[in-house]
Amino acid sequence: MSTGGLNAGVGADGAGALVSHRPLGILAALPQELGDLIEAMRAESGVRTITHGQRDYHLGTVHGAPCVVTLARVGKVAAAATVSALIHAFDVEAVVFTGVAGGVGTEVRVGDIVVANALMQHDLDASPLFPRFEVPLLGVSRFAADGALADQLAAACERFIAEEGGASAARFGTHEPRVHRGLIISGDQFVASATGVEALRDALPDALAVEMEGAAIAQVCYEYGVPCAVVRTISDTADDHAPQSFASFLTEIAGTYSNAILRRFLEARGAV
Ligand code: SAH
Repeated sequence: MSTGGLNAGVGADGAGALVSHRPLGILAALPQELGDLIEAMRAESGVRTITHGQRDYHLGTVHGAPCVVTLARVGKVAAAATVSALIHAFDVEAVVFTGVAGGVGTEVRVGDIVVANALMQHDLDASPLFPRFEVPLLGVSRFAADGALADQLAAACERFIAEEGGASAARFGTHEPRVHRGLIISGDQFVASATGVEALRDALPDALAVEMEGAAIAQVCYEYGVPCAVVRTISDTADDHAPQSFASFLTEIAGTYSNAILRRFLEARGAV
């Protein structure tokens, strides 16, 4: 087994000695979406970095929780490949994806947070052979997020808003953030037009947010029986303003949200 060496490394020596049980996999697409997580790990336990399939996997303990942290890059294939490695080479117990997304639900505004209850691929269509959106031969179109993990993430988001929501809104010039829970849709497109986002609303009226990785992760986790959850901060509303809104949110705000949410989520998890 070519991955045996990596597996054996977790929980063995160096920083791995701190990993006494199976780690949590934490991933994002872009570095800004991880905030200071790897620096926090370095300060807390030291970081052991393993490069595998052109990605760096950072092993250690952060906010009291043993984790493997990595970047998937953008899109469904990249996300599926990365989460597959987290499962097979790093034996993660569960997977959490953190990042930004475009708001689709009419109530969902820039600066809000969406925690997925379910995820689906909005660009998957093998009709008329299979129903639109259904993954052929798997017979599933919507993949459920793990209920307990999603509850823990949503609770961390609510604590963040209660403790810092007003200050964050004032600092970034956004609304007081709200947490939404529901459907996140994924596809290999950056949605950036009024017609594009309208078409998604028409096809999937309960969709809250659109991004490019979540449903791929949820599908792989479903197939391997690994719990997963996805939290997305809304960087844009997937319309004609999306490119500018996305770019400024990513550089100025995404890391702050991610730090605030992940710290609260991991501290609560480490305390169990
Ligand atoms: N590397 C580029 C492109 C990022 S693509 C850059 O840094 O500028 C946008 C990323 O943010 C994806 O990972 C996707 O999951 C998420 N995202 C945010 N807004 C989106 C939108 N309107 N449509 C699709 N994905 C969006």
